[in-house]
Amino acid sequence: MEEGKVQNEDKKSNLEEELTKKELPRRDFIKKASLATIGGILPFIAANTLRAQDDEGDDDDDEGDDDDDSSNDESSSAGLAPRKLGKVGEISALTFGAHLITDKKVLEAAIDMGINCIDTAPKYYAGQSEELIGEYLKKNKSSRENLIISTKLPIEDEDPTYGGTEEKMLASIEKSLKRLQTDYVDILYIHGVGGIHRVTNPMLHSAFEKAKEKGMVKHLGLTSYNGDMKEVVKKAIDGGKFDVLMLYYNYVRQNDRYESRFFQYSDLFDKAKEKNIGIIASEPFAGGFDVTKRDLDKGFREASISWILENDKISSVRAPIRNFSELERYAGAAKGGSGNTSVLSSYQKAVSEQWGHSYCRACDVCLPVCIFNVAIPDILRYRAQYENFGMEKKAILSYKVLLEKKNQAVYCATCSEPCRHVCPFGVDIKPSLLQAHKLLSF
Ligand code: SF4
Ligand code: SF4
Repeated sequence: MEEGKVQNEDKKSNLEEELTKKELPRRDFIKKASLATIGGILPFIAANTLRAQDDEGDDDDDEGDDDDDSSNDESSSAGLAPRKLGKVGEISALTFGAHLITDKKVLEAAIDMGINCIDTAPKYYAGQSEELIGEYLKKNKSSRENLIISTKLPIEDEDPTYGGTEEKMLASIEKSLKRLQTDYVDILYIHGVGGIHRVTNPMLHSAFEKAKEKGMVKHLGLTSYNGDMKEVVKKAIDGGKFDVLMLYYNYVRQNDRYESRFFQYSDLFDKAKEKNIGIIASEPFAGGFDVTKRDLDKGFREASISWILENDKISSVRAPIRNFSELERYAGAAKGGSGNTSVLSSYQKAVSEQWGHSYCRACDVCLPVCIFNVAIPDILRYRAQYENFGMEKKAILSYKVLLEKKNQAVYCATCSEPCRHVCPFGVDIKPSLLQAHKLLSF
């Protein structure tokens, strides 16, 4: 493991450590944070006071973060006031992305602070994310009806290209419900949709209808971050079968000179709103880089969340929340800070100029060129997770799955590299993949 790499999921924020040391009950933290968020008191007074006592620092914190105030500056009675998510109902402006969760206390605190949407998937930590949420739901049965719980169908259970069938989809839903210890999920997503064959797949719709009749699911959604997103989103809106779209949306992508060639959302967002289809933004941090290590944070994550929520067509931002520190920061931003564009554009500039050779935008242009069917964008995403987000364990596990499908980058070593110069974003595909393989395979 790289020197200085942080096992973020195992780390506790300074605040949490301090709370543990002082044996303050979690309720105290929640009370302080909720009052601060809702009442407009500087939300992080407690955290900042405690951070000041800790010279060690924490990579997940942003000591010296000049723009922290971007999330704290305005009092807002709105706080985490719900927005409308189409037919689903009211949703908090911040959705708890549970793909990195390892600490149930963080989830409990988030729910107590007013976050009502929890997003998971069977594959997150090989089912452990769903199980952890399930433990919460078992102990807090009365809270279930106030929560929006979403999970996903694994691509191989749902995509006919990978052998997906109606039976597999129904079995997957049943297993998720068991892990989640609930009778139903509010939203069932098909995951990472890059082609319209999955939007129109009749088996998907019949499986969903059957599950709905049995009361196992309420709404169908899709997530999309790669491939032919524009056509996918159009088809999903026009078809009228999807109630929620969770889309890769952030400042970097929307302002990238290349991305704009591929996809602008604005007209589609209007159309979705007309049809009462809810939109959740995912990947608020642009699948990007370790801003803390590279001195780029400076309030970047808060500004990202605030910038997204300035768009009133977006109901909620799904952010990965790993610890108390992130919970505080993101909740503060979601209450209505400034989407500080100078912070955002500095980050974007740094990403493009300094790391453009390995920053994959998941456009899938290179896929047909690869003679070994290497899962190029997926692998580069896992590499980014490993290198930049402290998600080493998850990235390694995800990469391992590709071994079974023979989609790993091991083939690049002896390949004549027809993918060279193919990437419209200038990614050096082969060297980037070889580096990814080195990091992710054991
Ligand atoms: S170098 Fe790797 S990614 Fe490129 S074509 Fe060959 S196997 Fe595919
Ligand atoms: S490597 Fe380049 S061409 Fe391939 S998916 Fe990523 S951005 Fe697109």
